[in-house]
Amino acid sequence: MDIKQLADGVVSGNRRALARAITLVESARADHRAQAILLMEEVGKSGRQALRLGLSGTPGVGKSTFIESFGMMMIREGKKVAVLAVDPSSARSGGSILGDKTRMEELSREPNAFIRPSPSQTELGGVARRTREAVALCEAAGYDLILIETVGVGQSETVVSEMSDLFLLLLAPGGGDELQGVKRGIMEMADIILVNKADGDLKPAANRTCADYAGALRLLRKRPQDPEGFPKAMTVSALQVDGLKEAWGEIQNLTEWRRETGHFDQRRAEQAEYWFGQEIRQGLLAQLQKEPLKSMISDLAKQVAAGQLTPGHAAADVLNALQHG
Ligand code: GDP
Repeated sequence: MDIKQLADGVVSGNRRALARAITLVESARADHRAQAILLMEEVGKSGRQALRLGLSGTPGVGKSTFIESFGMMMIREGKKVAVLAVDPSSARSGGSILGDKTRMEELSREPNAFIRPSPSQTELGGVARRTREAVALCEAAGYDLILIETVGVGQSETVVSEMSDLFLLLLAPGGGDELQGVKRGIMEMADIILVNKADGDLKPAANRTCADYAGALRLLRKRPQDPEGFPKAMTVSALQVDGLKEAWGEIQNLTEWRRETGHFDQRRAEQAEYWFGQEIRQGLLAQLQKEPLKSMISDLAKQVAAGQLTPGHAAADVLNALQHG
């Protein structure tokens, strides 16, 4: 495969080249990985930067409806929109759900929109790396806005927030006045909480939920990357396309502020370092799962269990073999 040619195709905005490039970075084959590394270096020269928006929410909260409405609004503003997904369930089942084109019917027909489902991989780490590289490919291909979707179940939010400039948390109106069991860690990641379905009979409940979360956000420690008033909670109706302009306005305000204060670039630099560390860890773990270390570890584990070796001694043997093998 001619990597230079593929990179040129991506940068020139050719959709087929982009799709092929993403397939290449999704491949687990060693020779493909080597080519993918070259490809990422090549497209990185474009120096293009998109706004990367992470979006999380539990199933049924309205993520695909939001992406469809919000994405179409952006398209009408003349922007190119890419939609990618990190689906933790695909890591287990091998299937992929998020980012499915049939869920965003209108957007998927737009020539200026690019939708790619979550890669199916056996580990979240694998899904993460591939999506992160797909984000960079879409960026090089000239997309202005990249939406990275995930389901709210924990770990995958961290992954998405580490590849996003801004993180949006989508919630549904709650019945009671209690917070909907959103984990504190996830709330702390959110830059903007969007309470969706603020329409019809659900509107009063949405307003209450929004006020509850606005209160909860005020109790969080102030982060250096936030101007006055952020993180904030807002109501929207993805279905009736209500509040989306306001949400976009706040996204732009926050982005502008972070760009002016240097937080935007600083965050990207920190993310690059984070992924460097993750790649090393994953590479080392992969080595431990390969022969000859795999057999060595399983033999040593038996000796440790039988009390013939201390855990410390056995681990030192493995690390030695790793260093010298
Ligand atoms: P996802 O699983 O998070 O992607 O959620 P979907 O976008 O598939 O939406 C789940 C259900 O909620 C669908 O029946 C949508 O029509 C409905 N829904 C989504 N957004 C809204 C909204 O703003 N208002 C109302 N009333 N229903 C909505």
